[in-house]
Amino acid sequence: MANEHGNLSINSQNIFPIIKKWMYSDHDIFYRELISNACDAITKLKKLDLIGEYEAPDDIEYKVIVKVSPEKKTIQIIDNGIGMTKDEVNEYINQIAFSGAEAFLEKYKDKTNEDQIIGHFGLGFYSAFMVADTVTIDTLSFKDGSTAVHWSCDGGTEYDMEDSTKDSPGTTITLFLNEDSYEFANEYKAKEVIDKYCSFMPVPIYFENEDAGQQTEDILESEVTDKDTVLDTYVKDAVTEEVEKEDGTKEVQEKEPAKKMAKIVKRPVALNDIHPLWTKHPNECTDEEYKAFYRNVFHDYKEPLFWIHLNMDYPFNLKGILYFPKINTEYESIEGTIKLYNNQVFVADNIKEVIPEFLLLLKGVIDCPDLPLNVSRSALQNDGFVKKISEYITKKVGDKLSGMCKTDKENYEKYWDDISPFIKFGCLKDEKFNDKMTNYILFKNLDGKYLTLTECLEENKEEHENTIFYVTNETEQSQYINLFKETGIDAVILTHNIDQPFITHLEGKNENLKFARIDADLSDSFKEETSEDELKEITTTLTDVFKKALNNDNLNVKVEKLKNASISSMITLSEQDRRMQDMMKMYAMPGMDPAMFGGNGLTLVLNANNELVQYIVAHKDGEHTPLFCEQLYDLALISHAPLTPAQMTNFVARSNKIMELLAK
Ligand code: ADP
Repeated sequence: MANEHGNLSINSQNIFPIIKKWMYSDHDIFYRELISNACDAITKLKKLDLIGEYEAPDDIEYKVIVKVSPEKKTIQIIDNGIGMTKDEVNEYINQIAFSGAEAFLEKYKDKTNEDQIIGHFGLGFYSAFMVADTVTIDTLSFKDGSTAVHWSCDGGTEYDMEDSTKDSPGTTITLFLNEDSYEFANEYKAKEVIDKYCSFMPVPIYFENEDAGQQTEDILESEVTDKDTVLDTYVKDAVTEEVEKEDGTKEVQEKEPAKKMAKIVKRPVALNDIHPLWTKHPNECTDEEYKAFYRNVFHDYKEPLFWIHLNMDYPFNLKGILYFPKINTEYESIEGTIKLYNNQVFVADNIKEVIPEFLLLLKGVIDCPDLPLNVSRSALQNDGFVKKISEYITKKVGDKLSGMCKTDKENYEKYWDDISPFIKFGCLKDEKFNDKMTNYILFKNLDGKYLTLTECLEENKEEHENTIFYVTNETEQSQYINLFKETGIDAVILTHNIDQPFITHLEGKNENLKFARIDADLSDSFKEETSEDELKEITTTLTDVFKKALNNDNLNVKVEKLKNASISSMITLSEQDRRMQDMMKMYAMPGMDPAMFGGNGLTLVLNANNELVQYIVAHKDGEHTPLFCEQLYDLALISHAPLTPAQMTNFVARSNKIMELLAK
């Protein structure tokens, strides 16, 4: 071939700045582009081999080799795939994005979404110039009689083409890294990037550090390398030998260990898993495989609770596995990762345009070959197809969960505490998911039983039609819980942050339904029947005494005859006031006093049947009465909400004082 020197077609002067600018967001992506091109080249050749249009040598092992030289500051991507003829280099490489790219660039000239251009118009190869000053291609087409081509370009708009010495089909891309990108020839960095993008590409990828003394050809020819190897199983020949005994007879003996070691066959290990679990049929996957895959991909050594294997070919192609991680609802915020792939090529994590927001709390992989590899997120947002994918995923998750509740209730209940924040979030975020899950939302009651909303309402029907009582903190609210249990009234446990918005959401969906925290009010069932008059006088007395002792004129005091005489004092706060205060806490300036908005709404309930309360009535001017009042108030407060530091200090000091008095 005559040496050729030419100009890259179409406005490459315009393209290179775009490529270089693009690199600043994700400049490691060139590895993905070049390695996936290499995989594609191999996949194509394998197909031709399969249909008989190409006859591969018997011993061929299709593979991609990534070879770095930190000293020379070069990276090579070597494949034994389809290769390119001179004409093909001209067509695919020289005439960058020849079909209408000029018009396209013109149109997008002023836009910032350059990432749309890359990938769409076959600029993948040119991403090499994000990190390299000079790039060369050595390629030999599989086609009979082809001449190998050497192409080089220094990042300007001109290229050179001449004959290459390459003598087997395939392509070698060599990058001479620019000053800012030397790190990509570093073994650890390179492996990290390859791990990120190429872990599941469909062709084995081997890595080689040239400066660590290994030649590409060695690997290609002999399969033996020192680096990154595992011991293969012993080969019979290597571990046994024929030995002549003293009497002249021969015997097969095991070799000495030292000799044995020398003969152990070592094989290079591919960096990637070419058959990731999601590509298999769910029937072919074992629980152990699902768990191992989870550990490998998410580095989470806590076992997932369960998983959903998505597998569909119609109306679009989508495969994936979604894992429900075990979460500690009290201490951990939930943060998932959904990795998106396109034909086993990693695209990105957590693309919320494709994956419904609430599913981002899960961990999983989704492979959708129908999605464009590189499109801007703004484009995805408005894409009807992408929306369909997102809806499908939501539907599948809803199906799996509701199905599990119907057919495997025991496990569903077992997982409920872990999965409920996620499901509730989904109901808040997604109308369809909400509708699907309505009958499968569970509530854990005071006996630890799981009930549906309907069952909860049924339980309390006689007492409080349409009201469901709930506990937000089992420790703090234990006094109320005991009272409920004694009286046979049920309540449900709702301790997660998501529960407040969720019950508001349920109230909005179900007319008449009310949720009330367990300390919102004291049910008549707890009280003895009394006439209002009966408690009038004692109420006046106790109100005066407590207001004075607590130095609080706004104090609300209510006196009841509680059946349980051991209870002295309690605090109630109406559900409405409490929600109002929660809102204020959320939106108001820190330090703002709720009293500014009409008091804190708390009512101090005193039990007229309690001896201590009776003592206070009888000794309203007694020396220690103020002390008792303060202590009773704090004791009631503790069961309602944590004390402030100042309140706690006083409470401890006062408790000590009371004991001192007793000791005297
Ligand atoms: P895309 O891969 O999106 O088509 P690229 O710029 O990455 O765009 O590549 C353009 C074309 O060049 C490819 O479609 C392919 O035909 C050819 N090509 C690139 N790399 C290789 C390779 N390693 N082996 C064979 N052909 C290749």
